[in-house]
Amino acid sequence: MTKLLDPSDPLHSLKAGHWFKLICGASFQHLPAVRTLTLAYAIAGADCIDVAADPAVITAAQSGLAAAAKLAPVARQRGFPPYKPPLLMVSLNDGEDPHFRKAEFDPQSCPPDCPRPCQSICPADAIAFRPPHSLGVITEKCYGCGRCLPVCPYDIIYTSSYVSTPGAVAPLVLSGEVSAVEIHTQVGRYTEFQRLWTAIEKHARRLKVVAVSCPDGEGIIEYLNFISKMILPQVGTLVWQTDGRAMSGDIGDGTTQATVKFGQKVLAANLPGYVQLAGGTNGYTVAKLRSLSLLKHNSGQSSYIAGIAYGSYARKLLSPVIHALEEREVNQTGIRKSIYLEQEPDLLWQAVELASSLVSQLKSQSQPTRISRQLP
Ligand code: SF4
Ligand code: SF4
Repeated sequence: MTKLLDPSDPLHSLKAGHWFKLICGASFQHLPAVRTLTLAYAIAGADCIDVAADPAVITAAQSGLAAAAKLAPVARQRGFPPYKPPLLMVSLNDGEDPHFRKAEFDPQSCPPDCPRPCQSICPADAIAFRPPHSLGVITEKCYGCGRCLPVCPYDIIYTSSYVSTPGAVAPLVLSGEVSAVEIHTQVGRYTEFQRLWTAIEKHARRLKVVAVSCPDGEGIIEYLNFISKMILPQVGTLVWQTDGRAMSGDIGDGTTQATVKFGQKVLAANLPGYVQLAGGTNGYTVAKLRSLSLLKHNSGQSSYIAGIAYGSYARKLLSPVIHALEEREVNQTGIRKSIYLEQEPDLLWQAVELASSLVSQLKSQSQPTRISRQLP
């Protein structure tokens, strides 16, 4: 018998074909920004918030979720959809992966007359040459996109990769703080994936969702089939994240093509589980899916793209608010004092409006997201 899901359960959104995931970034550790993004997108109706598997980052996201829950009645009065707590997801990797790396360089090696193209191309404002930041790459802001590497005329920027340790995630799953895990893999990593899965499978039944994120490659369907056979006995809900063009959604509309094409390919393979796009997703993705009839448009439809994850595009959308909040944090004496987004109501509702402009594209496919507006 098919289990009926409560519409307030985020998993219902997968079934209904409007699952929205915010990707804060597998290696993004800027705590104030993680909190701000989580708070704004949670109020706007996100179903899942995906963060780095780092206890400090998880605490920042939880703080954002607690603030969102508190603000829910006011948000409702302002016409935002009823609040439903999103799932908190952490990302792990089974080997080298651009999502799990940081750029580095020694700023002492930079010639004084370099026009600093690294700084202007960085989408995360993660490169600084003036106090109060430490000079060079601001590690917690870097999410590994790699755009600074080819533009350095002196070729002094390099990256450090790391593999996450599943042992650190186990207590978070056991305590219920994290209810979803995403595994980043690549075609052909049979042994590595198996090793990682062996380390986490005993906790799998406690997870509401296990997502597998993989870029396209030769033999992809055979590889995903292998994974599904290995993990499905233990996994309640499986999501295939088709990682089109990684960390590129903020570059331009066209970056969404790769993930849409890849999503179609995985969909056609009829694998067990839901298909959700990522990597190059942006403000054009919903329109593209709609034009190809890939979104769910009637309840009997069995093959559809169940959701979209937004990373760099979602973060860029809120960057004016994040910058404004940072500026207000520096008081007249020049000392930085933490300010939470909800302490600045103008910025709070600006952030929620911006987040909602993206979430509602997908949600409005099948349900109204806003009631009549009551602006102050
Ligand atoms: S451009 Fe990308 S890789 Fe380079 S510092 Fe910025 S976020 Fe990190
Ligand atoms: S582009 Fe290279 S040399 Fe120039 S400031 Fe950046 S890291 Fe230094």
